[in-house]
Amino acid sequence: MLNIVLFGPPGAGKGTQAEKLIVKYGLVHLSTGDIFRSNIKGETELGNLAKSYMDKGELVPDSVTIKMLEQEVVKHESPKGFIFDGFPRTNNQANALSVFLESINTEVSVMLALDVPKEELVKRLLLRGEKSQRADDQDASIIENRIRVYLEQTAVVASYYEEKNKYQSINGLGSINEITERLYRVIDLI
Ligand code: ADP
Repeated sequence: MLNIVLFGPPGAGKGTQAEKLIVKYGLVHLSTGDIFRSNIKGETELGNLAKSYMDKGELVPDSVTIKMLEQEVVKHESPKGFIFDGFPRTNNQANALSVFLESINTEVSVMLALDVPKEELVKRLLLRGEKSQRADDQDASIIENRIRVYLEQTAVVASYYEEKNKYQSINGLGSINEITERLYRVIDLI
């Protein structure tokens, strides 16, 4: 299986690039943010819980997120692989993912980290906020908080994969297609 962790700060372009990669490599896209948002829309218990954190730009607790992710993975019968988008966001989640994938006889193949400077992230997120109804993209202070949470809790996850020689940084500036091509080049070497 080809299991890709697509990594980077909020607004780095993970969702956009994941959509391209699933087509080219026949992978399943699992975005924890999207799964939470669909639960919020469906007014499920999980959605209500997640909303209280997401609206503030905080992380949803690990126990909830990990269980949800595992339930999503097992829904797919003999997949070619997964793109994990927005997960893992803590070292605890990274550990849990590794244990879980081992239990189904597979592993993370690579972490692809989109590198984008902070000023560009804020610009992209505010623009997305104008076009979409995402509450967490509408407010500059929530965006700042998400970037802070990323730097304080999530950025360390890169070292987790670096230590396993599975980390690849990708320049996340340029056109969507240029960035996709950069990702293809790295994936094709795996
Ligand atoms: P972005 O990458 O733009 O922040 P996401 O859709 O990935 O957007 O995430 C939106 C929000 O969903 C996060 O700010 C967080 O509250 C919650 N979330 C998503 N994935 C996780 C995760 N793996 N662990 C905890 N919370 C998460």
